[in-house]
Amino acid sequence: MDSSAKIRIEDILNRVELYRPELDEDLIRHAYVFAANRHQGQVRRSGEAYFTHPLTVAWMLAEMELDEVAITAGLLHDILEDTETTAAELDLEFGPDVTRLVVALTKLSDFENSFTSREATEAENFRRLLLASMDDVRVILVKLADRLHNMRTLSFLRRDRQVAIAQETLDIYAPIANRLGIGSIKMEMEDLCFRYLHPREWERLEHEIKDRADAAERWFAEIRGIIEGLLLANGLSGTVQGRVKHMYSVYQKLRRQDVDVANVFDFLAFRVIVGSVADCYAVLGLIHQQWPPVPGRMKDHIAIPKPNAYQSLHTTVLGPEAHPFEIQIRTWDMHKIAEFGIAAHWSYKEQGKGAGSEDSRISWLRGLLDNSEGASPREFLDSIKVDLYPDDVYCFTPRGDVFSFPRGATILDFAYRIHSEVGHTCVGGSINSRWVPLRTELKNGDIVEISTSPQQRPHHDWLNLVVTNRARSKIRSWLKREEKKRSVEVGRKLIEREFRRAGVSWRKASGSDELKSLLASHGLAKEEDLLAAVGFGRLAAPAIIAQLLPGRDGAAEGEAPAADAAREASGAGNQALEVTGDADFLVYVAKCCKPLPGERIVGFVTRGKGVAVHSRSCPNVRNLLYHPEREIEVRWATNAASSGASPNQVELDMVFDDRSGMLASISQVISAEGSDILSCQLRTEHNDRGFGAMTIMVRDAAQLDRILSHLENLNGMRRVERRGQAKTRA
Ligand code: MN
Repeated sequence: MDSSAKIRIEDILNRVELYRPELDEDLIRHAYVFAANRHQGQVRRSGEAYFTHPLTVAWMLAEMELDEVAITAGLLHDILEDTETTAAELDLEFGPDVTRLVVALTKLSDFENSFTSREATEAENFRRLLLASMDDVRVILVKLADRLHNMRTLSFLRRDRQVAIAQETLDIYAPIANRLGIGSIKMEMEDLCFRYLHPREWERLEHEIKDRADAAERWFAEIRGIIEGLLLANGLSGTVQGRVKHMYSVYQKLRRQDVDVANVFDFLAFRVIVGSVADCYAVLGLIHQQWPPVPGRMKDHIAIPKPNAYQSLHTTVLGPEAHPFEIQIRTWDMHKIAEFGIAAHWSYKEQGKGAGSEDSRISWLRGLLDNSEGASPREFLDSIKVDLYPDDVYCFTPRGDVFSFPRGATILDFAYRIHSEVGHTCVGGSINSRWVPLRTELKNGDIVEISTSPQQRPHHDWLNLVVTNRARSKIRSWLKREEKKRSVEVGRKLIEREFRRAGVSWRKASGSDELKSLLASHGLAKEEDLLAAVGFGRLAAPAIIAQLLPGRDGAAEGEAPAADAAREASGAGNQALEVTGDADFLVYVAKCCKPLPGERIVGFVTRGKGVAVHSRSCPNVRNLLYHPEREIEVRWATNAASSGASPNQVELDMVFDDRSGMLASISQVISAEGSDILSCQLRTEHNDRGFGAMTIMVRDAAQLDRILSHLENLNGMRRVERRGQAKTRA
């Protein structure tokens, strides 16, 4: 039933009575009268009475066969937000269950409306949605129905609002519906989003499909007739449905150029619904005898259900005139799950009361939430987008257990799926009995065996190797623990040294009342936290001594050790660097890019080692920017670029035509700029291409720039690069 305007409360009650004969009709009727009264006079953008909206939402919930509490909440879902009604009043009128749902829904939409940073809000919003649904999955189901009806009536909003709402729906709500297995809502949402996000493509496609409607009708009739004949001749009863695939999936296939819109088969699909699993396989056999199957396109989602519990047999066959088309075969139960997913499951369970174990989709939601602790909104959003995606890859353990992964998952994801300890110590493994490294991507049907080593431990790079939420959060929490441990060690060393310099014993100070009040003044709970804060670079050891022993050391004495500490901890050359604003940080040049004086730089507060200074063009900076809170402004001290600074080693890679005198020209250019060659390796290949790797000494970025541009201008030089940086000159 599409036309929302026509829905009457009697339709809803009749629908509910079909699946809930013991229905408490009064509750729904009361909500209907109550809500119609309160929303009286309110009008939607469409010009319809506002109340058509909650009424349609309630109808959708009845279609999902939910109980009267959910349907009542659907009727009342906007009442706290849009009318003077209070929660206390609802509680009195409808009881605590309904009130709890409506309050949760109101909180969600309050949150949606208070946008600040768009991306952060979306993720946070989603998280709240999940949190709320943990208590009661009905909240999320009402929310999905609410959003679907808003999508249906989107045409009445301004264009920019249409785009924003459609994008949010496509990013967040359609994936949730999919993950909860509610295919009917997911597909309609996607089609509506497609229509508003790509109106021109949508129109064209609709046109194409309409143009071929006659041809489609003929094919539907012919093929349905053949399949029905097959069923009849073999004593099977079932329903054959022919349908146009949902537009968004046709559009995606068109973009991947998997289909040709001129070929009517590419957007038609058939579905056969039968009484039992055995019949499903029987029908599959009959169809494969009638039309040859396309190899590799048969999928048995009955034996291996999708993670959202979807089950069906899928096959593609070469139909009349050798046109391939798709057929899905399923039972009625599977059909219901495919359309309504968790809602179908939820209502079964409700009827069977206390049917034991938790729904696997609820535990999936819970897992998603647990694993998102401590992640930034961006990380959280990225990870759920991956986890929500339906393109799953199925892999097996040698014992035959099957696990599903999002596409792009690696053997390391597999290891973390088995156990976090297996993940932490994974060194690789074998796929189909062949040894493969950690980064190897999993493919459908792989049999995976993990190898571990007690010496192995997680690395930062591993975060780039995994795609599952679970693996990423396990790695992240391991690294965090490790960083904390390291920073406590570093902090202890720094503090002990400062205390020694000041002629005080840290051991005596440790545990004293003075130290306790110092901890309190910094909001720290234990000494270990103080050590960690010093190690992280958040607190400076000299400042602590000054606070602990006021008046003991003069200003001069207090400064000197700090400068010393900085120099010692950060190695040579750092005195040329300054951290803007706060001089208490230890500063050192990052090993990966070794920026030169004068180069554009950026600082990051590392865990435990002070401030690492990277070149702006360093590839690692991109990853570090995911933690903007750790970025800190640094600059070269004014004298750093002068000739007084100590020279730096820079590695250059070159490709050139192998002509005589090339090496002489190269070294001449370098020495003409006042630089020395520290080492040099050359080799040539048969095609007269020469490769050079050189280490030279330079003072600053400007000098390096001059050398690079002279080298590039040499006759026969093809490419010069500073190693580790794609663009040498930013
Ligand atoms: Mn609403």
